[in-house]
Amino acid sequence: MKRFTGRDLLIATHNRGKMDEMAALLAPYGIAVTSAADHGLPEPEETGTTFVENARIKAHAASAATGLPALADDSGIVIDALDGAPGVYTADWAETPNGRDFHMAMTRAHDELIARGAPEPWTARFCCTLVLAWPDGTDAVFPGVMEGRFVWPMRGAEGHGYDPVFQPVGHDRTFAEMDPAEKNRISHRADAVRKFEAILGA
Ligand code: IMP
Repeated sequence: MKRFTGRDLLIATHNRGKMDEMAALLAPYGIAVTSAADHGLPEPEETGTTFVENARIKAHAASAATGLPALADDSGIVIDALDGAPGVYTADWAETPNGRDFHMAMTRAHDELIARGAPEPWTARFCCTLVLAWPDGTDAVFPGVMEGRFVWPMRGAEGHGYDPVFQPVGHDRTFAEMDPAEKNRISHRADAVRKFEAILGA
């Protein structure tokens, strides 16, 4: 697999929460990150039906627009009792005419679990697929996962997105009750970054 030996990496996201986590996760490798927003790139439409398809769309769009290698993250929460929903539509569930409302999205997931009479524990996982796109049109895929369960009510004020309703396996706190460094040691994104790490350096 082609190795990444550069110092600067474009992270193909407009999501501040993801960006902060990627910057922290890549800092130990001496990689300086810039975001798609820093480059003034538009957000491409995510028309894929899998995490890898959507990550490819974002990574290749950013790389083609800038001529730089670009790393994209497509991620989401997969709830078993909802047949895998919201999955690739995790961000869509939060969409409103006035921006994203994650309180609404988490409430919808809970309402659907109750409506189905799904017995607890509500097993779930966070998935993160990273795609590194090269300017020559090739790419590499790095999948990451963290198992856990959907909990209710929401707990904690750290993190972003669905963190207040996700309790990782082996822990009694949600992601939103952990400090960012602790989440970054065990998260789905950290799992994917560890795989990306294998192609860093000469
Ligand atoms: P996308 O990958 O930009 O399509 O959106 C993924 C969505 O999944 C984000 O908007 C978040 O709501 C959610 N998500 C992904 N990773 C995390 C995480 O680490 N914590 C909480 N929510 C996350």
